[in-house]
Amino acid sequence: MEIIHFSAECYPVAKVGGLGDVVGALPKYQNKLGHVAKVVMPAYNTKFLFENEFEVVYDGWVRLGYNNYPVRIFRERTNKLGFDLFLVHIAGLLDRDKVYGYDDDTERFIAFQIASLDWIAQWEHKPNVIHCHDHHTGLIPFMLSNCQDYRHLSYIPTVLTIHNAQYQGQFGWDKLHYLPVYDLRNSSKLDWNSSINPLASAIKCAWRVTTVSPSYLEEISYKAAGLESLLAQERGKCAGILNGIDNEVWTPQKDPMLSKAFNNRTVESGKKANKDALCNIFNLDSTKPLYTFIGRLVGEKGADLLPDIFWNALQQSDGEINILVLGSGDPHVEDRLNEITQHYAGKYNAYIGYNEALSHQIYAGADFLLMPSRVEPCGLNQMYALRYGTIPIVRRIGGLKDTVTDIGDGGFGICHDQTTVWDVGDAIGRAYNLYQDQKRVKEIRKFIMNLDHSWDRAAQQYVDLYQM
Ligand code: ADP
Repeated sequence: MEIIHFSAECYPVAKVGGLGDVVGALPKYQNKLGHVAKVVMPAYNTKFLFENEFEVVYDGWVRLGYNNYPVRIFRERTNKLGFDLFLVHIAGLLDRDKVYGYDDDTERFIAFQIASLDWIAQWEHKPNVIHCHDHHTGLIPFMLSNCQDYRHLSYIPTVLTIHNAQYQGQFGWDKLHYLPVYDLRNSSKLDWNSSINPLASAIKCAWRVTTVSPSYLEEISYKAAGLESLLAQERGKCAGILNGIDNEVWTPQKDPMLSKAFNNRTVESGKKANKDALCNIFNLDSTKPLYTFIGRLVGEKGADLLPDIFWNALQQSDGEINILVLGSGDPHVEDRLNEITQHYAGKYNAYIGYNEALSHQIYAGADFLLMPSRVEPCGLNQMYALRYGTIPIVRRIGGLKDTVTDIGDGGFGICHDQTTVWDVGDAIGRAYNLYQDQKRVKEIRKFIMNLDHSWDRAAQQYVDLYQM
């Protein structure tokens, strides 16, 4: 099968969160199964664009409302990522330093989708499946089935994967003129709550819809930022497929970003070396348990509660624990997290920002990884932690529920039910007690490093879904 993935992110080209990791890995694993999977994404001004070789495969224009923009599509020459990568360059719209966060994001992603389809519409052969990821590519199923320009592509099956239903990309009907011509009687396929809603439209128009974990599929039937009734209506074509992780990138035995590589046999000495190095850099005490948090500092992740959780834990533990945070997001949370450093230097530190290499070092050097999420469609951090022998402390929600079992239930992690200061504090206490039993901790580390969360299984599940 030939599968085209459309996405706003793809690691290592451009990554903001889990979407990038998924689109950077799934196509590679689909190719390993003998299929031909390709990725089409915007060409941002990222390092990857300037450090690799490309050939031009398409030159044209994209019409967006009353303006025309030049389009150039590049193909990465060496198949470096294990799949064909196509970058859509639209001068003045996509060629920015960041992936998101601009006032004209709506225009940018509409133009990306139209330009990509204009290009595919010219191909002599046609792909077997078009797989769209999140709202940035959510208008594609509608355009394929309704716009005159793409009518000859309308028989191509489309799949939408919802990585996060909180973000829907909605915009006003005053921007309708940005879309290619279609039969206006079909406008209801774009509409949700009197706006054009790309995620809702994709849920309506895609042939199949997936969420990134089975539990998240259940949860969005009652909590999906306003899309609950739509998802209930379309439930018949929905499936939950748990994300995998890219074992070629995330393997402590071969990870060039670590201070010391390690495997299941050398996990104790390996983790100690990485913990020592981290504690050295961040002025922490490597003889004490190291708790960490990595992620976007937003409400979904429970980040607003982290400062209070950490103040309490540091006070109650009487200097017996360390905490290290890596993240960025809400400036108020960032400030509050930084403030703790002044009071608990030597026991606590925070790196505010995005740092891929540091995240690997933390997964390797930490004892525990906290994920007190309010919403977690899948969550990859807990799977990276497991692979690097770090015990996850997670809220029982979404993909966290599908991947982590509590030690009290014969499992290997610490689970709690609510995103509250009290519940997370209690979980931190349980982890502290566990840490005192080093024999058990060692057994758990060996066990979790062996858990298989690779993409092999999920890549096949997607292929099965395409063929249904
Ligand atoms: P989400 O996509 O909701 O942000 P996921 O758990 O699915 O959450 O994926 C998060 C990914 O982003 C992981 O690869 C994690 O290591 C990475 N990440 C998040 N914040 C940072 C950061 N500040 N620095 C480096 N990596 C980060």
